[in-house]
Amino acid sequence: MPRDYSRGLQEIGDGLYAYLQPDGGWGWSNSGLIVDGESTLLVDTLYDLKLTEQMLGEMRLAVPAAARIDTLLNTHANGDHCYGNSLVQGARIVASERTAAEMPELPPAAMAALVKQAPEMGALGAFFLSCFGAFDFEGIELALPDETFSGELTLRVGSREVRLIEVGPAHTRGDTLALLERERVLFSGDILFNEAHPIAWAGPVSNWIAACERILAMDIEVIVPGHGPLAEKGAVRELKAYFEYLYEQARARHAEGMSALQAARSMSLDRWADWSESERLVVNIASIYAELSGASAPLNPLEAFQWMAELAAG
Ligand SMILES: [Zn+2]
Repeated sequence: MPRDYSRGLQEIGDGLYAYLQPDGGWGWSNSGLIVDGESTLLVDTLYDLKLTEQMLGEMRLAVPAAARIDTLLNTHANGDHCYGNSLVQGARIVASERTAAEMPELPPAAMAALVKQAPEMGALGAFFLSCFGAFDFEGIELALPDETFSGELTLRVGSREVRLIEVGPAHTRGDTLALLERERVLFSGDILFNEAHPIAWAGPVSNWIAACERILAMDIEVIVPGHGPLAEKGAVRELKAYFEYLYEQARARHAEGMSALQAARSMSLDRWADWSESERLVVNIASIYAELSGASAPLNPLEAFQWMAELAAG
């Protein structure tokens, strides 16, 4: 189903901006900009240098103060939220401790190598290229966080307060929300993929459900999701219901001894059938399976892509 929303910088409040990248699919992430006077905070960079340069250029044009970014927040460790970091020169880079630890594990050079090998990797390679072939990972030097926190940290942007709330592990190990209480705006990172299937790389899914509950208890009006169009709390309510539905469906199939892939193939997507990236279902089921069986080993990303490639192929 086509998702219709505008590309680029959107003003969502006085000095508050979202930068949206349709269609929100694999790698097409959103970012945010918070400004007060000359003080600036950037929420996430993009997947490659060209996209990040284009974003920074658009921000500087619309908001002169954005010529200098004081603080860069990385909401989590996935490359589509941090590979552009090196272009934000002079900024202090803040992330949760868990995010900072996870970030160097998949450097841009590894993604560049995988894209190069993909044509010889059969159906898995073709699927991988359909997800990441549009991005240029060559020659990216990953700038890592220089300030970390655990739990919560409040940052000041001029007279504004930005509350960083660590809710991971869920999508990744150290997912962080950025809440502007007075302005009633939340930058959710990939805790919300709006109108698309989420993907529980780290899990547990029960922790993600708890993160949804935390957001639902907030007094907010606008959510800038990590992917997809601007959202309201209704989108988080839908995400929570999706995970609860998946949990119930996966529990029965786990008891029957079905594999995660068999479970994904046999499951009706109910009212979430319109959401894109439905191949992620198998990873979310595998994450629930791991939780049900008390497994502590992290998901193997290559195995996860193998399952998704199989599910996407039908
Ligand atoms: Zn993302």
